[in-house]
Amino acid sequence: MKILVTGGAGYIGSHTCKALAEAGHEVVVYDNLSTGFRALAQWGDFVHGDILDGEALRACLRRHKPEGLIHFAAFSQVGESVADPGKYIHNNVGGTLSILESMRDTGVRNIVVSSTAAVYGMPDICPLTEDAPASPINPYGETKLFMEWMLADYARAFGLSWTALRYFNAAGADPDGDCGECHDPETHLIPRALMAVTGELKDFRILGKDYPTPDGTCIRDYIHVSDLALAHVRAMERLHEAPSGQGLSLNLGSGAGFSVQEIVNAVEKVTQRPLPHTIGERRPGDPPVLVADGSAARNILGWVPRTSDLDVIISSAWNWLRSPKRAAILSRA
Ligand code: UDP
Repeated sequence: MKILVTGGAGYIGSHTCKALAEAGHEVVVYDNLSTGFRALAQWGDFVHGDILDGEALRACLRRHKPEGLIHFAAFSQVGESVADPGKYIHNNVGGTLSILESMRDTGVRNIVVSSTAAVYGMPDICPLTEDAPASPINPYGETKLFMEWMLADYARAFGLSWTALRYFNAAGADPDGDCGECHDPETHLIPRALMAVTGELKDFRILGKDYPTPDGTCIRDYIHVSDLALAHVRAMERLHEAPSGQGLSLNLGSGAGFSVQEIVNAVEKVTQRPLPHTIGERRPGDPPVLVADGSAARNILGWVPRTSDLDVIISSAWNWLRSPKRAAILSRA
């Protein structure tokens, strides 16, 4: 297949482009480089464009005639979404609308999108299955849930086929060192912990040690980005074979939960270095525990996480953090 990947120059997008290429598919990246990096778009053609620019997007779809589209081009920082909700609604909802209309105009029928565990808000029960109530507690989660509803509407109205992949905590980097995480600012736990080990980050804090968990710190489900990437490939291949009008939301997690304290310990073990840290206040909106029941993705996509062992996640992120490629990308940013 030929697949257009919006946001293919970003973290999960770039790993997915590599996985698509390795599975024998042709890739076209469509990215405005607002948060992505040209150097991460290494597979297939690159088109510099904005998803909100419907004319450019339609021209790109007409020129390349992809069989499907994988959509990553969204803002994803919870705190920023609370401070500036309009930015998130404009890009994540408006951008998805632009994509759906462009697909409708050009006859592209299959779409896989990145969604998030943030659609569940503050769940009472874990592990979470897809039928847990969707009840987001911040604009980021709201925009992703609304995106899923838009897909369902377009499926009903026009026979679009879609899969929304609800990621838990994406982490790690490409095992070959071709791509990895380059966020500015970096808000995620594992890269921040590693940056604290090297001294790149001076003030690393465990955000809350009074949660109702065994060691008092939050528990999350960390899933290797290359495993996430593979799920997108499987999801798109499945849509290609399925009758039109199908829609599905699937959790993507490893099914194992690790506390922030356990991550700190694992980072010290993998790097063989001390991780200077203090205990800070809770971050507003952090649920104590978020762990996926990933059985639906396993059954429906035949997807099994292969590299989501915690030490593998952390060591791949550690290799990426110290790689000349990451340094070169960030120095040009
Ligand atoms: N966290 C932390 N210190 C940091 C960054 C994150 O203790 O510097 C905690 C955060 O409160 C949460 C967990 O690590 O409990 C995972 O946070 P992250 O931002 O990586 O992902 P999220 O679960 O918010 O999607």
